[in-house]
Amino acid sequence: MNQQLLSRLAGALTSGQVRVIDLTNTLSPEFPVIVLPPEFGQCMTFRMEEVSRYNENGPAWYWNNISMNEHTGTHFDAPAHWVTGKDLPSNTVDAIPAQNFVAPVVVIDISTESAADADFVVTREFLENWEEKNGPIPLRHWIALRTDWYKRVGTPEYLNLQEDGAHSPGPDAGAVEFMVHERDCLGLAVETVGTDAGQAFHFNPPLPAHSILHGNNRFGLQCLTNLDKLPTFGAIIVACPLKIEGGSGSPLRVIALVDGEDA
Ligand code: MN
Repeated sequence: MNQQLLSRLAGALTSGQVRVIDLTNTLSPEFPVIVLPPEFGQCMTFRMEEVSRYNENGPAWYWNNISMNEHTGTHFDAPAHWVTGKDLPSNTVDAIPAQNFVAPVVVIDISTESAADADFVVTREFLENWEEKNGPIPLRHWIALRTDWYKRVGTPEYLNLQEDGAHSPGPDAGAVEFMVHERDCLGLAVETVGTDAGQAFHFNPPLPAHSILHGNNRFGLQCLTNLDKLPTFGAIIVACPLKIEGGSGSPLRVIALVDGEDA
């Protein structure tokens, strides 16, 4: 039975009936990383140093040494990333069961609201209204917030730093509690640099997405692109973090499988 199912998927992939959408930003030294208040340690940008390129250091081969933070570029947050998840079992990227790395996604479009208000906050009430129009958020899905924020990459409006910190949309505590406890989400997937809003240091509790998601063994995906290319329901996300021993997160390539009719 399973073999028949996968055979059909294989046929759909080769015929183009199922398409693959890249949800990943390109890793480069220019790609911005989250900026914390200055009293805290900071996230490192991507660095790349050539070892050889068909030259005296390696006449027939090209390769680079690379370094970065676990949370640089398009990346995955493991539960151990947050103090609320520090004692959970299998809470690091090397220990998370691989079954979680292939999962369906529901896309909630807040691009209009986010364009009108960079500090747009998703509340439980907003999600309940969304469900009335679109249908229930299915259980055990990635919940993706489409903001179209990826279109700001390469401009200062991506981080959107002002004197009082970053300004970008995100959920409040009530919304995250709803996603986790009533919709059993696998995690929260966003185009912004963090699962929390830019001003979420001032929320109650501070950084509610990180605090509540990771405290309940859920995951985060950040700095995604192309969420506007996905259907509201029915896409599958493949997101496999690097198997870093004890790692709190990892840069990764994220792809989505969509029905050809939806792409
Ligand atoms: Mn992160």
